[in-house]
Formats: sequence, C-alpha cells, structure tokens
Amino acid sequence: MIPLHEIKYVLLDMDGTLLDKYFDDYFWEHLLPEKYAEKNNITFGKAKEVLLKKYKAHEGTLNWTDIDFWSREVDIDIPALKEQIKHLVEVHPHVEDFLQMLRRHRKQIFLVTNAHYKVLDIKLKKTEIGKYFDAAITSFEIGYPKEMVEFWEKAQKRLGFEKEKTLFIDDTKAVLRTARKFGIRYILYKSYSSSRTEKGKSKEFMVVEDFGSLIEEAR
Ligand SMILES: [Mg+2]
Repeated sequence: MIPLHEIKYVLLDMDGTLLDKYFDDYFWEHLLPEKYAEKNNITFGKAKEVLLKKYKAHEGTLNWTDIDFWSREVDIDIPALKEQIKHLVEVHPHVEDFLQMLRRHRKQIFLVTNAHYKVLDIKLKKTEIGKYFDAAITSFEIGYPKEMVEFWEKAQKRLGFEKEKTLFIDDTKAVLRTARKFGIRYILYKSYSSSRTEKGKSKEFMVVEDFGSLIEEAR
C-alpha cells in the first residue's frame, strides 16, 4: 500500500494519531467544564454549553492550540490541570513498534503537532516515544496551525523534508487536506484516534487503523 522504500521522511501527528485522544476529549469535554462550573457557580450542562461555544469560535486557529490563551479565557490554570490527569495519557497500540521499525529503516521521523509546547512536554515525559524523533515541531512555534498551508511552508524550511519522499499521518482530515494541497505525496488518515469513540471513516484518504498493519507491510 505505502512503498516504504520511496519514503525518506515520516511526519507524525501526536494527539489521536500516536496517543489516545481520550485524554484530550476527557479534559476539554469533562474535566474543564466541571472546574468551570464550580468556579462560576453554574451547572455542568451550562458550563459545557458556554465552553463548546468558545471552542467552536477558535477551532482551527492558533488560539485553539495555545493553552495560555485558554488559561486566560476561562481563568483556570490549564497546564496545571492537565498535569493533574497526566496518568491518562496513553500511547496507541503498536506505536512504539512502528517507530522502532522506522528507525531500523533509517527514516527521518518528525513529530508535527498543533499541541502547545507545555502539553507536548507533559506528554513526552509521560510516554517513552520522544526518543524516536529527529525533531518535534509545534504549530505554536511556527505561528500557524497545521490547517493552514503557511504552517507547511515554514515546517519544510525548518525540517528540510522533500515532499515527494514524505509520508504524513494524522487523525484530522482538515489537516490532511492542507498537507495534500501543499504537495506531500503519501498521506494516511489515522481512523482509530480515541479508545472511547467510534473509528473514523474516509473515502478521500488511505486509512490506517492500527500501526501494526504498517509494520506487517514493511516485512
Ligand atoms: Mg491529532
């Protein structure tokens, strides 16, 4: 399916692709509304309604990825709250085997994430995957989210990958569309992003559900 020998660079998203998105869903849809309700003396339902409206307004923008922005917006220390539940950060099945396989084949591996560097730090400390990457790049340091083509132009300059020899895997279709428009040749949609929600489907992208299948192909 994916001709590994033609690939020199592998770009990987973090949340939902390598890590179980349940952590993020639980945080934004449950824990934060709970704290917000307590703080403002409103019901959980009302808090969720207010927050969902705020999330919607900043989706796909740099604000969305900036947890310091959210700390100010809701007047709650978001990094500290994330730190409290870091035990919920989980790596998806076969991710480490996949990363080891890429290393063995001498691919250059880059982590490409919309996550804020403070969150990246919490997650890489909690998991063992950080050591596999040649570099990690956040949309926050680039100044654009991955949904915008400017992100890719700047990321390419920074990381030096060749589009024709690059594989990119992400669980967000809007991001994959931008990457394809930018010209990245091999694109895979990670359909199993959270252990608690249904798998995604796609007709426009090749789908990978579990990294185990990519390891099988490489044999
Ligand atoms: Mg993701």
